[in-house]
Amino acid sequence: MNGHNSSKAIVVKSHDEIMIMLDANQIVAETLILLQRMIAPGVTTLDLDRAAEDFCKSKNAVPAFKGYHGFPGSLCTSINEEVVHGIPSRRRKLKKGDIISLDFGVRYKGYYGDSAITVPVGKITRNEEDLLKATEESLELAIEKAVVGNRVADISIAVQGYVEKLGFSVVRQFVGHGIGTALHEGPEIPNFHQGDQSPRLVPGMVIAIEPMVNIGTSKVKVLRDGWTVVTADGKPSAHFEHSVAVTENGPIVLSRRHA
Ligand code: MG
Ligand code: MG
Repeated sequence: MNGHNSSKAIVVKSHDEIMIMLDANQIVAETLILLQRMIAPGVTTLDLDRAAEDFCKSKNAVPAFKGYHGFPGSLCTSINEEVVHGIPSRRRKLKKGDIISLDFGVRYKGYYGDSAITVPVGKITRNEEDLLKATEESLELAIEKAVVGNRVADISIAVQGYVEKLGFSVVRQFVGHGIGTALHEGPEIPNFHQGDQSPRLVPGMVIAIEPMVNIGTSKVKVLRDGWTVVTADGKPSAHFEHSVAVTENGPIVLSRRHA
């Protein structure tokens, strides 16, 4: 989940806090692995939402998105041209050839975890395969830039430079974020270069890096449900996200999935 974070404070975490955030994010990672295995034609997005909520509760974690600014689900399920914040529904069944973004967050021992993946439902087009691969790779390149002394802009440039070279576009209206005892803290982590003096990365920062990448236009709009963000041209979009700790020893991907 993202957005809603205009000029919030940057809060540096201790080693012990980062270890709790690792636990929180590993619950998110395990949930995403479980959801990925459920993906098949005929499965509803509400089935996925229920599975995510049940699993995280079994781990003594609380689904972070449920009720957040009034969001009705525990999981964001965004299919095809939907970019982020799709609302789970028992009426929405997955179909062969769909791509679905699964964005999940939990609160655990007072700290948040947040991560997202986009997965195919059976066979998808070559262009969509390339989109998913590019988005995930741009996230990995961005993570490599999450080192002490760099700036947020180094992350932004890594994402934008990589995907635009491949002919895709990055969403500007929604951004990544700091994360900790709040789901959304400072700094904002845009997927595009803003050109100004962005914040310097310091040890103890934990940031959710989340490229949202489109096949066509970078422009998006919000549907009348007040949540679902879709591409303005109706073309597919992908979303991958990791929560990453910036440390003296380099980035730690707290939400890394270990299948
Ligand atoms: Mg998220
Ligand atoms: Mg997020």
